[in-house]
Amino acid sequence: MSGILGFFAKRFVAGDTFEQAVDAVRQLNDKGITTTLDILGENVTSESEAAEKANSYIDVLDGIERTGVDSNVSVKLTQMGLDVSDEFCLKNVSRIFDKAQEHNNFVRVDMEGSAYTERTLNLVYRWHEKYPNMGTVIQAMLHRSTADIMELNQRKIRVRLCKGAYKEPASVAIQEKSLVNKNYKKLTELLLSEGNYPAIATHDMNMIDHAIDYAQRHDIKPDQFEFQMLYGIRRKLQEDIIKDGYRMRVYVPFGTHWFPYYYRRLRERKENIFFILKNLFKS
Ligand SMILES: Cc1cc2nc3c(=O)[nH]c(=O)nc-3n(C[C@H](O)[C@H](O)[C@H](O)COP(=O)(O)OP(=O)(O)OC[C@H]3O[C@@H](n4cnc5c(N)ncnc54)[C@H](O)[C@@H]3O)c2cc1C
Repeated sequence: MSGILGFFAKRFVAGDTFEQAVDAVRQLNDKGITTTLDILGENVTSESEAAEKANSYIDVLDGIERTGVDSNVSVKLTQMGLDVSDEFCLKNVSRIFDKAQEHNNFVRVDMEGSAYTERTLNLVYRWHEKYPNMGTVIQAMLHRSTADIMELNQRKIRVRLCKGAYKEPASVAIQEKSLVNKNYKKLTELLLSEGNYPAIATHDMNMIDHAIDYAQRHDIKPDQFEFQMLYGIRRKLQEDIIKDGYRMRVYVPFGTHWFPYYYRRLRERKENIFFILKNLFKS
């Protein structure tokens, strides 16, 4: 990661290489925090590049096994050739699932913009029949998410619940933040009550308190779900949640294609942009 933006991206990205990412994972594991590793990149349009990216994930799964760190992986389907075709993507990602199965590890299929939601879920349903050690992500901002969670719960597919990182039109997504939060709470309850080991992925203390309160009132034990946060965000809170007896998994992205991921993190919080601008003017 070079240049001034690369310097600031280091806060959110564990490094360019697997070795650097494993160092970050070890430090988190030492604090009782598990991780999910993500090789940065999205919207690959050539079969050869998508196949190469899948090979890199296979290497990462071997690397996790070799180093003994406590981590699974998260993949984006547009990095795996979803823009080429569903069938190509299905075959390409199946190679990653085969490797995960060999090592008894878990693969999470990230959720991208709403143009991909339906196709992603249809592929997830097909994969899950053969590979039970996989799950996906649902975005609370989308109008369709209650129905999707009910379907995923019924199929016993593990869900990570997030608010949603992509800018979406009003036709498909809730626009008002307070209403997204309200839906997030409702979906958290649905997942905690009827889901298969859900992941509550948020840095929002209000959402976290709600999940803990709901779990306690319904006798849902701390080992029946996990919280998840992004690398570099609210690091003290990540540790506090572990100290309180809950599970925490951190999403650890690495690699050289960091800009789109980094841009989404900046967009989520204007203080991050001000921080960079202030330092740019200082230098
Ligand atoms: C583990 C994990 C996996 C995710 N996977 C996906 C996915 O597959 N698809 C998808 O669309 N989205 C994904 N997201 C992103 C998610 O949708 C949100 O965009 C992001 O988490 C911000 O929402 P929030 O719940 O933290 O709440 P917000 O209301 O955005 O933030 C709540 C508080 O958290 C802190 N915070 C939040 N973001 C930042 C930041 N960038 N920098 C500093 N502080 C911050 C601030 O204190 C803020 O007030 C994932 C998030 C996590 C934690």
